[in-house]
Amino acid sequence: MRFDIVTIFPGFFSGIFEHGIVRRAQAEGLVTVNFHDLRAFTHDRHRTVDDRPFGGGEGMVLKPEPLAEALASLGIEPKSSPARELQASASPQVILLSAQGGPFSQSVARELAAVDQVVLICGRYEGVDERISQLYCDMELSIGDYVLSGGELAAAVVVDAVMRLIPGVLGNEASGAFESFGAADNEIAIDIDGVPRSQHGAGGLLDYPHFTRPAVFQGIPAPEVLLNGDHQQIRLWRREQQLRKTFTNRPDLLEHAMLTESDKKLLHSIGWHQD
Ligand code: SAM
Repeated sequence: MRFDIVTIFPGFFSGIFEHGIVRRAQAEGLVTVNFHDLRAFTHDRHRTVDDRPFGGGEGMVLKPEPLAEALASLGIEPKSSPARELQASASPQVILLSAQGGPFSQSVARELAAVDQVVLICGRYEGVDERISQLYCDMELSIGDYVLSGGELAAAVVVDAVMRLIPGVLGNEASGAFESFGAADNEIAIDIDGVPRSQHGAGGLLDYPHFTRPAVFQGIPAPEVLLNGDHQQIRLWRREQQLRKTFTNRPDLLEHAMLTESDKKLLHSIGWHQD
């Protein structure tokens, strides 16, 4: 899979993808990340990428021409062009990072992990001339309800979250399913290499708490149940913790989570009211 990031600050990314899983995925050839300096697609002495907004108001706006040229250099045509329509499912996903975008989530990350190329356009200043989104972008994505000074951090978040879902990138293929927002039980294998699983698929819930050695830290013992090797008990305990944590921190997720009758019973006992 290939990521192409269009930015006025390619240097922003130096070092950011050179650690851990993301570095390894590139070293193993599973993923490439390319940076494209927007100023390389200008033609004036000052390498101008921005201009004043029509209608007045604060700040500057990224001009459409350099962005269109940057996209053309990647073989990206306007959405209306027959070439792009023909490419259909194989076509790259062109994404504008924007505070006005739809929410970036684990399910969007999963969708993007299945495509061959993702092009990320990083805005700056007051944003990007709207016609770039209209003409070229498949989606606008926001990484949260706050305003960043540029799309670069958001692009890095998208690359990181998508990359780890690409088959082969995580050591254990199933890991992504067991994490927060992961797949439901019926979508994942019953056991791993013959060992009974000690966890349920997350099924849209948050992850359960994790503990490691020492068994007692600053007077607080790790939960006894995790030390006894009984996978069934561990599964039940972890499921209960997931439910409790999700109810406490993100009750909104319960609406769409895959809940069994015993999950619901537990949730009702701690104060959850299903609408
Ligand atoms: N005027 C814009 C608004 O009010 O929505 C904010 C522009 S922001 C200062 C500059 C750039 O940062 C945006 O064009 C976008 O690329 C990026 N950006 C800011 N917040 C973001 C967010 N929550 N998610 C994704 N990108 C964001």
